[in-house]
Amino acid sequence: MIRNLLNESSHLLLVSHVQPDGDAIGSLLALGLSLQAQGKHVTMYNEDGTPPSFAFLPGTERVTEHPGELAQYDTLIVLDSGDTDRMGSRAQELMSIPCIINIDHHPSNTLFGSLNMVDPEAASTTVMVWRLLQQMEWHIPTEAAWAIYTGIFTDTGGFRFGNTNTEALSIAAAMTSLGADPETVSRHIMGSYSFAYIRLLQEALSSIRLAADGKLASMTLTRHMLEKTGATEGEASGLVNYARYIDGVKMAALIREKDTHTETEPSYKISLRADGDMDAAAIAVAHGGGGHRAAAGFSTSLPPESILKMLETCIQTTKNDSQRL
Ligand code: 5GP
Ligand code: MN
Repeated sequence: MIRNLLNESSHLLLVSHVQPDGDAIGSLLALGLSLQAQGKHVTMYNEDGTPPSFAFLPGTERVTEHPGELAQYDTLIVLDSGDTDRMGSRAQELMSIPCIINIDHHPSNTLFGSLNMVDPEAASTTVMVWRLLQQMEWHIPTEAAWAIYTGIFTDTGGFRFGNTNTEALSIAAAMTSLGADPETVSRHIMGSYSFAYIRLLQEALSSIRLAADGKLASMTLTRHMLEKTGATEGEASGLVNYARYIDGVKMAALIREKDTHTETEPSYKISLRADGDMDAAAIAVAHGGGGHRAAAGFSTSLPPESILKMLETCIQTTKNDSQRL
């Protein structure tokens, strides 16, 4: 099915989620560059473009923030996006493209494609792209190998999270033999920060509060902090992990004040990181968001105090459930 669709399509638009991470940019590049190598007409589109920390990846100069005239495309491939909103402000228009292939590993995926390739067991979307390239029996260009490696590296938190499995490690190893360099990837993604980011980190660390007997850690990021430090939205995305690193914390929440332009837009973006028995995705989905068990997010206009109360209740309920077992 997928073989026929890809073989028959000629003009493809590839899109990955807004505020892209290494898996969103990586899956876009890995599949896009491989399709280009097969002689297809491919546009690699991300509404927010490539964040500076991923600009070292070969091929990112071909990622565009503008998809052009949509009528030219016969196929849309949506990568690493649990629902259509994740494509950004033009999501509705994009859904008018005749054939939609949805490739993703979020358990909350809403199966919005004409063809859905969704596997929550896959460590990253680039793992799924790798599987697809194997199925197509296509050669993997060196630039695509860098991108596949980077998606795995990012989504496994540098081979540390619970999704670090044999498949992820063996594909990563295979990508290094095709030319991807682990040291270069980790230096750009986890070992090199702007001074503005370090100043934002200081502010963010000072904002950490513990609740629910030390099981809930919250961190707050205001527009003022971003303006004062000069750090970018993209740089702020991994901060929540610092709250999660605290001993005894089961759930970490980053409450980020959004740059809203209308009164109807949600005022806060919440990033959740969960440990052990907690399911971050279930909480996020209940509030209109999505993600994975260990990492999920949603947008809301609820005030921060109410969000924290709700999270405390979730922790309490989970504790009671596991005590009953
Ligand atoms: P982060 O907290 O790093 O923004 O996101 C963590 C995970 O949750 C990612 O897999 C991301 O795709 C997902 N996620 C974050 N925010 C949203 C959201 O508003 N909607 C959906 N569907 N998924 C989200
Ligand atoms: Mn991903």
